[in-house]
Order: sequence, then structure tokens, then C-alpha cells
Amino acid sequence: MYCNFCGRTMPDDALYCSACGRQLGTRVARRPLERAREGRKVAGVCMGLARHLDVDVTLIRLLTLVVALFTGGMGCIAYLVGWIVIPEEPIYAPQAQVVQPQSGPPMP
Ligand SMILES: [Zn+2]
Repeated sequence: MYCNFCGRTMPDDALYCSACGRQLGTRVARRPLERAREGRKVAGVCMGLARHLDVDVTLIRLLTLVVALFTGGMGCIAYLVGWIVIPEEPIYAPQAQVVQPQSGPPMP
């Protein structure tokens, strides 16, 4: 890996350049806000929000429940709005594997 700022060679696992102190590589991009398909309880709003904010989904669910209870249904409406507004995450299709025909005698 090369530092983009001073051009020196750095080990691949280095996070910062030892010469100029700049951050190396790219940080992991935050997941887009979208409703999760896996691990969701209702519509994946809490799960998607938790993934987006990189926090525990249980925390978000508890928070949603507390808000829903203490605001007299406003939390439920907020959830419904999130359900409508937040797009569902795309289906990640498994990558097509090229099946190589096995070498050997042809099947009858
Ligand atoms: Zn550098």
C-alpha cells in the first residue's frame, strides 16, 4: 500500500501513514438506510436503522417501543412512516457459479 499523500510504501495493515500521519485506505462506508430483509421482526425498520447507525438492534427496538408507549401512538406512526419511506434492501442474489463438467466417461 502506498500513502496517497506522500507516496511512501506502508504495510498493508497500516491505518495511518507513519511519515505524514494521514489516514490510509478508505474507511468502511456506512450502510445505506434501508429496511433489512434478514433478522427483522416486523418490517425491518429497526434492523435497518441499527445497521445504518452501527448500533445494537435491540437498543433501537427498545427505544422504538419506549417512544411508542410514551408518545401515545406517535412511535407507531413513526414506524409506519419509516416502513413506507425507507426502501427495502435489494435482494442479494447468490453469485452464479459456473458448474464445470467433471472430466471422465460421459454419462449414459
Ligand atoms: Zn504519507
